Amino acid sequence: MASGQKLVLAIVVPCLNEGLTLPTTASELKAKVEALIDRGIIDQASRIYFVDDGSTDNTWAYISDLVDNSETFIGIKLTRNCGHQYALYAGLLQAEGDAIISIDADLQDDINAIDAMLEKYQEGSEVVLGVRKDRQTDGKFKRRSAALHYWLSARFGMEAVPNHADFRLMSRRAVDMLGQYREKNLYLRGIVPLLGLQTSLVHYKRGPRLAGETKYGLRAMLALSAQGITSFSIAPLRFISVLGLFVFVTSTVLGLWALHAALTGNHPGLPGWASTVVPIYLLGGLQLLAIGVAGEYIGKTYMEVKNRPTYQIEKISKHAPDAESGRRNAGPSV
Ligand code: UDP
Ligand code: MG
Repeated sequence: MASGQKLVLAIVVPCLNEGLTLPTTASELKAKVEALIDRGIIDQASRIYFVDDGSTDNTWAYISDLVDNSETFIGIKLTRNCGHQYALYAGLLQAEGDAIISIDADLQDDINAIDAMLEKYQEGSEVVLGVRKDRQTDGKFKRRSAALHYWLSARFGMEAVPNHADFRLMSRRAVDMLGQYREKNLYLRGIVPLLGLQTSLVHYKRGPRLAGETKYGLRAMLALSAQGITSFSIAPLRFISVLGLFVFVTSTVLGLWALHAALTGNHPGLPGWASTVVPIYLLGGLQLLAIGVAGEYIGKTYMEVKNRPTYQIEKISKHAPDAESGRRNAGPSV
């Protein structure tokens, strides 16, 4: 941003079946953007991008309506459901602006924290992470599983900030840098710290979902955790090697001891099956575990090697005052 010019802000919102939340979300975000424009903090060219991640409800119809009625909104429709991280990534790479904020469609994240984020940006931070103060509004299960997730991430050497999800501000430069990370196993909150840019935190209180249901059930959360851990460290593989070494050394010592006992005629007097059968189960289990973990990494390598695009954009809708909307890449440039 050249000095003297106002900051152009882009807000990116990934949406999967958010027909129930979008009306409130859109009007609240628009009011926020208008208030910031009125206060002279951001430029009139600031925009809100809704990314439809293959919704099956009226989400895209609603986004199209918004785009028809106001130039503040831009709609990006993906061809199919690609997942939260990829929908967000698609939106970030499409967004135009000096600073780009990502936020969920259910407004669990406090949009008033945006003011503080912009202040930090003006003070020189290129990455501003929204961190929730508490998890009162999450269920017990979600709280515990989240705590376990952050504990595991830290153990496995990932620099994730606890209680920060995907509510963050990034400078243009940060988003451009992010665009260079072409990995298929995308875990944004793990990659952003790798950029190494000046970062600050903004704390906010996270509310309950406006309406509708969470798209992150147990399965999706476990998958995200596994994604985070295996994308950022080979510690699980190393753990298995250490375990294997330990079992190998212990059994060698045991074997030598048994040989010694047999040669000296000093039998240990343990003819029972337990000492034979238990290790078989134990080692069988360990081997399966080891193969499973190694397989997880091989699977990831396979996905990366195929180098498939992680998302496809069906169309981008921009406000076109006179022409019909919804045409591919239609409308004036923003
Ligand atoms: N979302 C998405 N694609 C998906 C799953 C979720 O775009 O496959 C969006 C969803 O619409 C919401 C955000 O990602 O805007 C976070 O999802 P949700 O609120 O369900 O997750 P939670 O807050 O419960 O972790
Ligand atoms: Mg949510």
